[in-house]
Amino acid sequence: MKLILIAFLLTLILSLNAIAIQRSDVQKAANFYSDYIDFFNKPPKYAIINESAIDISAAYLLFIQYISGKSNFDIKPIKGENHNFITNNECTLKIEDIKEASKKLLRFFEEKNEFPLAIKINDCYISNSDFLYLVSGIISDEFMNNKFNEDYAVKRLYFDKTIDWDSRIDAKKRYIGFTMDYEADRPENSDYYINAVDVAIENVSTIGINPLLFDRLCYGSFCTLPEDYWIRNYSSAEIAWTTAIKEDGKIVYPSCYPYCGATEGTYILFKEFIDRYGFPVAWHMTGNSIIAIASKPKLISKVLEYKNNGLIDLGLHTMYHTNIKKVSYDFREKTIREGYEVFKYAFNDDPVQFRAPYLDLPENYLPDYYLFGYGLLADNEMPDVYPDCNLDASCNYEIFSNSSMSFVRLDWQINREDSFLNIYLSHPWELLYETEGNPIYLKESGNAKLNVFKKWLQPVGEFGLVPTTPTEFLRGTPYG
Ligand SMILES: [Zn+2]
Repeated sequence: MKLILIAFLLTLILSLNAIAIQRSDVQKAANFYSDYIDFFNKPPKYAIINESAIDISAAYLLFIQYISGKSNFDIKPIKGENHNFITNNECTLKIEDIKEASKKLLRFFEEKNEFPLAIKINDCYISNSDFLYLVSGIISDEFMNNKFNEDYAVKRLYFDKTIDWDSRIDAKKRYIGFTMDYEADRPENSDYYINAVDVAIENVSTIGINPLLFDRLCYGSFCTLPEDYWIRNYSSAEIAWTTAIKEDGKIVYPSCYPYCGATEGTYILFKEFIDRYGFPVAWHMTGNSIIAIASKPKLISKVLEYKNNGLIDLGLHTMYHTNIKKVSYDFREKTIREGYEVFKYAFNDDPVQFRAPYLDLPENYLPDYYLFGYGLLADNEMPDVYPDCNLDASCNYEIFSNSSMSFVRLDWQINREDSFLNIYLSHPWELLYETEGNPIYLKESGNAKLNVFKKWLQPVGEFGLVPTTPTEFLRGTPYG
């Protein structure tokens, strides 16, 4: 009997621990909330806390608890009633006064569990939505600077007057997978490139740069290009070319090129996405980008650290960003095997998935991947599974395979028809560059990162989709 009691208590403690909300969880939810407003000039309908989507009234209560200095956080919706109140004055407030007002507000919520008409601090009457934006910004600043500022300016935003304080989650749309394909800066093989030229500009859709212009980097016994690249005539389907970077109308070659996305974008992804929001990302890595990343001290161990915390799922993407549909059986075998071996060498672990470059799979592709024996995840238009689906970008599916197979769509835009899971694809170079021109080239841009993150945050805030990884998803959708 005693034993049962102990076991029961232990289970209780463990389950409480599992759902305990940390200060850092609230900071991440606040980062999401305040960035969402900065990106879209309207509040999201949901914020994410501990792998669950909460409505904005619950976020309000949570942020107020944080500012008040409360240490146990409750998630509870407040009864939503919109008073259409507009903040009277863009005043500047002392943090101490904001903390005091938050404590009072917390007591008010405990008694009534509904919104007040407005928040009054000194001579400022602040609308609930502006106060929520203010406190999320305060928490977000503290996340960045490790301390509160002394004063904060109240902004008077004209949000839609009917805020969805208590949005209901559509049960059919629950998850989102953010995926990053790690590869050289925009590898291209859709055009006909001949190895005799260094730069292809004529009769192509993208300005192609021949890999022979780059240094051959090595890591252990693995190198970014085959030894005979300068002798044998490799096709651009076998070893991908990259897209030119232009600055002031001229093609330039930064020292990080063509792996600037992988070596520089990775830090942005760590700090400004994964750390900032706590959202996990699935990476598919080409072997040559693993070699490029390995040239940066500590980057490999940092990747592993995130992986061990469940924030990154790692997958394969061939050695040379090879279009495995367009090459010989032997080259296909080589590029997949080398990609797999350098992955094992760098991370000493198994990849959880494979994604085909250009989403192109050869016919009868399944046996190849089973032969390699690693967990299968591939994507392409899938005529075998969906006969109507042929060469249409909207028809790309991913195969999750574990004990059973499940198919999910890879989304290019928000897909309201999708059941359950949306998967978005981006690339590290997209955090640094935008594409321009005809033929296309890359251009460094301060908006690049913003464009990727905006696209990724929108469905989370709009539909309450909970970010997940294939590993987590296959584990049985614990929050379903
Ligand atoms: Zn790719």
